[in-house]
Amino acid sequence: MQSTMMNVKLSMTHFLERAGKLFAPVEIVSRMPDKSLHRTTYGDFHRRSRLLAEALQKAGMRKGDRVATLMWNHYAHFEAYFGIICGGGVLHTLNLRLAPEEIGFIANHAEDRILIVDDVLLPLWEQFRHLTRIEKVVVVPLTGAPVPEGCIDYEAFLGTATGDWDYPDMDEDDPIAMCYTSGTTGRPKGVVYSHRSQVLHTLVLCMPDAVNVSGRDVILPVVPMFHANAWGVPYAACMLGTKMVFPGPHLHPDDLLPLFESEQVTLSCGVPTIWLGMIQILDRAPGRYRFAKDLRLTVGGSAVPEGLIRAFARHGIDVVQGWGMTETSPLATISRPNQLLGDLGDDERFATSAMQGCVLPLVDLRIRDDEGVDQPWDGQAVGEIQVHGPWITGRYHELPVSPDSYTADGWLRTGDVACVSPEGYVRITDRTKDLIKSGGEWISSVDLENAIMGHPAVAEAAVIAVPHPKWAERPLAVVVARAGSAVTAEDLRAHLSGSFAKWAVPDAYVFVDAIPRTSTGKFLKTRLRELYRDWDWTARSA
Ligand code: ADP
Repeated sequence: MQSTMMNVKLSMTHFLERAGKLFAPVEIVSRMPDKSLHRTTYGDFHRRSRLLAEALQKAGMRKGDRVATLMWNHYAHFEAYFGIICGGGVLHTLNLRLAPEEIGFIANHAEDRILIVDDVLLPLWEQFRHLTRIEKVVVVPLTGAPVPEGCIDYEAFLGTATGDWDYPDMDEDDPIAMCYTSGTTGRPKGVVYSHRSQVLHTLVLCMPDAVNVSGRDVILPVVPMFHANAWGVPYAACMLGTKMVFPGPHLHPDDLLPLFESEQVTLSCGVPTIWLGMIQILDRAPGRYRFAKDLRLTVGGSAVPEGLIRAFARHGIDVVQGWGMTETSPLATISRPNQLLGDLGDDERFATSAMQGCVLPLVDLRIRDDEGVDQPWDGQAVGEIQVHGPWITGRYHELPVSPDSYTADGWLRTGDVACVSPEGYVRITDRTKDLIKSGGEWISSVDLENAIMGHPAVAEAAVIAVPHPKWAERPLAVVVARAGSAVTAEDLRAHLSGSFAKWAVPDAYVFVDAIPRTSTGKFLKTRLRELYRDWDWTARSA
């Protein structure tokens, strides 16, 4: 017997057509480099994305060709997402925060042929163009500055299309987009997504038990569109016709907060460091901004300190934590109290939100120890998180499948170490390479960071392993105090001593003005390890 269902391929083109048909009047707002607001609609977005698809084909883009973007978050990047994909190309978002040589390596490795670039980023392009095989450069005129010779203006490029055009034939497994891991753990590696993987990821992402996205939302994605598909938000927004507010290059909390208020944003997303900066401003001026009453934040990319979740709750803003990686499209788990947890008091609710949460439908997750033995979900046993599912990459672009990244039965080894509660809540204790082994005992840098950031005088903290003559490694905490506050090593030791074993409490604290960041805004622990590698334990402390 066969099913009687129609065999319809999952495709991003459906989302684009749907947005044009159903949501044409809905607004798309973008902040320009001069801070003015550019306003357009889904009707225009639909028309222009199709024009871009046609223009790209006319310019020589064949099916599967990589088209790179070097852009901030704004309307044209949104059009590029859909224009490239729906024209049969592969959207390759370049991370503009990487070193030029690294961007060049990535663009060359991916064999990018065409580039769409913001005019304000042309100086960056000039620094890596010699490393690439890019043949055609389309410049988005955000400032109105003249387009350099040899490049084509984005609007003129759209003008080469007629509008009398149809989508190429595409399979649901065809490649649509690629991202490189940001290289925090070595050479960047490419991950290639398909229509099928992203359609399924989008559907699950929008569920109430996941990010809970609705067409009635107003979304401001702080996460850059070059970081892991902006966590799938552009696809979700197009599918639902959700009003978008793109922040352009202005990501400082002083720029974001008025935009939250003026556009009545209901959902925003970004890495913890963005919100750690924002909460200091909100705390100094409570009640200054009149936010939408259901404003909420999806936060991920690194562990979200419980103190941060509590701090936003005091301003009436909910924080939901997601976990994932470039390799997982990116969302794989999300922390929302589910029906098994029953009615939770505030303390339990915050503690639950500080975990990475339950695995999403369609993805399987397990934790395994170094010998490859499955660990029980008892909230105690720890192991490496391994995942398997339709939006988890099964290999890296042009690289052999290695046992460092995949198990023999084909599950992705994430390098994240976690325990899982009996209710299925994942709690990450570390990345394998960030774990601290002191005198034979494992110490979780994530647990220490979260606890230190729970101290009222602390704005940010990162804990790293530093070589020690007696204990092999000891934790060292790098701490940024809140503006106007003072905090000492003794204060922090006392703060931690109640909740950690004596040997787990760091002896060494360094107070700094800022912690170096990765290109995606996470604490750059590799740099910290370099800086403090030669810590003199005899001269400083035990
Ligand atoms: P990179 O690996 O280069 O940092 P990704 O953005 O793909 O690039 O990062 C994925 C990693 O980020 C995960 O493996 C995990 O270590 C970390 N991460 C993501 N979300 C969370 C979270 N909610 N809590 C803790 N760690 C997280």
